[in-house]
Amino acid sequence: MKCNCGGTFKEKIQEIQGRQNPVMVCDLCGEIVFTLKQSKNFHKLKPIPVEKKAREGWNEAFKQMEKNQDDKLIINDDIDQWPD
Ligand SMILES: [Zn+2]
Repeated sequence: MKCNCGGTFKEKIQEIQGRQNPVMVCDLCGEIVFTLKQSKNFHKLKPIPVEKKAREGWNEAFKQMEKNQDDKLIINDDIDQWPD
């Protein structure tokens, strides 16, 4: 694997965000890149707070839908009880 500067990327262990990760480092300019495998491995171990937040949002949406259905049901019942 060749770098744009003409150097060669070699696999090294590099500390990124407090974790030791195997990365490709250019022996000439020091540029760091991930291979696809390294990138997947890195993201797999990363905590995903965004996903949790999104799920909380869904719960709120479902609660709102439930509430709306209940309201609709009560109105329908009232109409059924009306005399002709
Ligand atoms: Zn380079």
